[in-house]
Amino acid sequence: MSSPETLKSYVAGRWHEASGGFRTLYDPSTEEEIARVSSEGIDFAEVLAHARDVGGPALRAMTFGERSKILHGMSKALRAHRDELLELSRRNAGTTEGDGSFDLDGATGSLHYYAGLGRGLGDARVLPDDEIQQLGRDEHFVSRHVWVPRQGVCVAINAFNFPAWGFAEKAACALLAGVPVIAKPATATAWIAVRCAEILVKELVETDVLPDGAFQMVAGGTGDLLDHLGPQDVLAFTGSADTATKITDRDNLRRHNTRINVEADSLNAAVLGPDASEGATFDRFVKDVAHEMMQKAGQKCTAVRRIAVPRLLQEKVKDALVARLDRKAVVGNPADESVTVGPLATASQLADAERGVRELVADGAHIVRGEGRRVDGVGSPEGKGYFFDVTLLEADDAESVPLVHSREVFGPVATIVPYDGSAEGAATLVAMAGGTLVTSVYTDDDAWLGDFLAGAGAHTGRIYVGSEESKGYGSGAALPASLHGGPGRAGGGEELGGPIGLERYMQRLAVQGDKALVGELASGDDD
Ligand code: NAP
Repeated sequence: MSSPETLKSYVAGRWHEASGGFRTLYDPSTEEEIARVSSEGIDFAEVLAHARDVGGPALRAMTFGERSKILHGMSKALRAHRDELLELSRRNAGTTEGDGSFDLDGATGSLHYYAGLGRGLGDARVLPDDEIQQLGRDEHFVSRHVWVPRQGVCVAINAFNFPAWGFAEKAACALLAGVPVIAKPATATAWIAVRCAEILVKELVETDVLPDGAFQMVAGGTGDLLDHLGPQDVLAFTGSADTATKITDRDNLRRHNTRINVEADSLNAAVLGPDASEGATFDRFVKDVAHEMMQKAGQKCTAVRRIAVPRLLQEKVKDALVARLDRKAVVGNPADESVTVGPLATASQLADAERGVRELVADGAHIVRGEGRRVDGVGSPEGKGYFFDVTLLEADDAESVPLVHSREVFGPVATIVPYDGSAEGAATLVAMAGGTLVTSVYTDDDAWLGDFLAGAGAHTGRIYVGSEESKGYGSGAALPASLHGGPGRAGGGEELGGPIGLERYMQRLAVQGDKALVGELASGDDD
């Protein structure tokens, strides 16, 4: 057995290796120790100063078009190492090839998308928000809203389940806006993120494409970093709602109104419309829900947790889902090609998922498929690996199972919950989770869909409509052109969504004056 790799942080223009305080990373399929990580010894005041004083000014001196070339280079460099990163993802995160590419291609795709958006903005350094409004009697007194880059840093804290996409989608928006990034990956899967950083530093920082100080990565804890964030900084957090509450409860963040964007967890619902009792839309629903349960072993913030079906269709949906999961779900070590569902990422995630199913059952839900606990995995030694059986539960009604709407079981687990078939009934069920990232709805009835949108729209960040003619990728993918984030429990944040994604990292202000001057400000013309 090879000795565990010691992961380094890239801070203040150099690689930092800690000498103590390590946490261990394991291969979740074999429980072999593979790496160790610690940020001990990092001077976080120096990290912040390096970003603010070196990286920020360099980025702000560039146009959107110039910054877009950085993102293009980042996407290309990571894509060139795709096979190596997929293999690392299998070892560090236990992903199948499909699950690893969902993370990695999501990362390179987001960078590529924002590179294209930046190219389109060309020579501009200031973005217009609206048209010129005349305020006075004539054009000598007008107003226009514009966006300029914030003069701070983006501290990007990410969850373990998307080690590549997590930092890349935040970095794409922040860097294009002109704001330097300090990325902090989750410890459990930090090796993938750190390897991405090594590639970016070698191929882009050392060749002067990515300015010094524009990108840093902290492997391990954040020390006192968050205590020094101020009025121009952005704290972009992805993770559980509990951690979000804990880390944002800081005097300095409140005092300075530091901008905070939280992407937290979510009890997403997939809703079957009453018209889709059979045919292509019904089949799509069953296929998508089973896929959402199995992909990344259910470790997705966008995974379907609640399966809302008209009561009259409950038995039919249950039979179809159980049959599909029995046919498709092979739980085990992704090194075995027959495996479709990898392990959970860590021993503590496994323990939490087991606890979660026990709580749902105690709450009144019944298991209708799967063990609801650890199982031995195909291709792994007996008793080893954090494998969890794909588990389907059902409830008798929505009101009697409050935990189904509030307890996130972060594994291949979802619960069928009946509703009365009305759009209002479906919307009420969606709203019971207190705010979600995404809701999928399967129907071909536009009137029903309109009523559903009116009731459910305010409780979710995205509605994915599956229908006979739709050709989407399923509700799980957070695509860069569409908004990602949801109200309430889901964190209340907004990421991606094309130009919306830049707004987190820019300041909007009104500029008033003579049209001849004000009109030129956002034209991209420096003269
Ligand atoms: P987590 O335990 O909340 O951790 C998230 C991040 O916060 C990690 O990088 C973690 O670092 C860091 N962290 C924890 N305590 C901290 C502290 N006191 N100071 C600074 N940083 C701290 O979440 P997770 O287990 O990694 O991820 C799973 C959760 O994330 C799920 O609930 C899932 O729904 C959610 N999620 C949401 C989205 C979304 O876009 N809405 C996307 C993915 C995941 P360490 O690992 O070093 O502790």
